[in-house]
Amino acid sequence: MLLEIENLKTHYPTSKGTVKAVDGLSLSIDENEVFGLAGESGCGKSTLIRTIMRLVPDNARVSADKMTFQGKDLLSMPDRDFREQVLWQGISLVIQSAMNALNPVYRVGDQIVEAIQAHAPLSRAECEQRVAALFDAVGLQAGLMRNYPHEFSGGMRQRAMIAMSLCLDPRLIIMDEPTTGLDVLVQERILRNLRELRARSKHPASILLITHDISVIAEMSDRIGIMYAGRLMEVAPAVEIFRNTYHPYTLGLKNAFPSIRQLERELISIPGSPPNLIEDIPGCVFTARCPFAIEACEHQRPPMLEVAPGHKVACIRTEHVEEFRQRAGEKKT
Ligand code: ATP
Ligand code: MG
Repeated sequence: MLLEIENLKTHYPTSKGTVKAVDGLSLSIDENEVFGLAGESGCGKSTLIRTIMRLVPDNARVSADKMTFQGKDLLSMPDRDFREQVLWQGISLVIQSAMNALNPVYRVGDQIVEAIQAHAPLSRAECEQRVAALFDAVGLQAGLMRNYPHEFSGGMRQRAMIAMSLCLDPRLIIMDEPTTGLDVLVQERILRNLRELRARSKHPASILLITHDISVIAEMSDRIGIMYAGRLMEVAPAVEIFRNTYHPYTLGLKNAFPSIRQLERELISIPGSPPNLIEDIPGCVFTARCPFAIEACEHQRPPMLEVAPGHKVACIRTEHVEEFRQRAGEKKT
């Protein structure tokens, strides 16, 4: 296992109370795997990755039963070791606003060369060669290395950031909304490049892909996790989660989309809104919006139950799934 997280909690103390942005989340990512994490805005996706990457504010309270990368304990690792051993070479990060993170006064290629040289003892020529190859891999002409960020479109800058995230050959690339805000065609081209790149690589990096765009997740991922109000609702192989859905929340999402090919690009569909993360919810966080909830759901926090190999669901009513599927299906027509 490359990354293992058990019972992670990231809570933000605020003047109004404690925001439980991630509240008891477990997930693991294997070598050579694309794990897609989907969930509505505000469910804690970015908080999860900020916690892994040590980018949460100092006052955030982080705890977990386990958080390891390549077997190394991330909870106890000193910052210095994290920077030297994990950052960039082990785990790299692409975020949406990374587009604007390029320094406007330096040529794009030089910025990437510098990032490589900060971690690897390579000559300038070797670095430039590597950057040229990476540019090519993400669909940018190598000559563009000599250009400045303002000469790049948003999509080109995002490609450059993806190239940068690949430059030290990390084992895990975390992508938080990597193509959100870009033109749909540009998005598709970037994702296609990424897939081709992985297909060609002998030892491809794993990807933790985070987005509220369920069609991007469906297209790219080997396994998918559905997150809601700081917790995971369902985790399964990508095909399985859409074909053999268990959780009422996932069913609700799916019900809004006639087929994966016609997926809407946003997770909206379900009446009501997510709970306030300051509230203490002893039971299932989806209860208030769940058409199938019973009283017990309010009192008992559902454990993650394995319903099929690799398929886990946080719901105490999975034995009624056939009925739920039928009722969810009926509503559609
Ligand atoms: P989006 O899809 O909009 O990016 P997200 O799933 O990434 O959403 P987060 O950014 O992780 O969600 O936010 C989760 C919750 O934590 C939200 O309610 C947010 O308002 C809250 N939150 C995030 N950062 C802080 C902070 N520093 N202090 C207090 N609350 C925070
Ligand atoms: Mg986010």
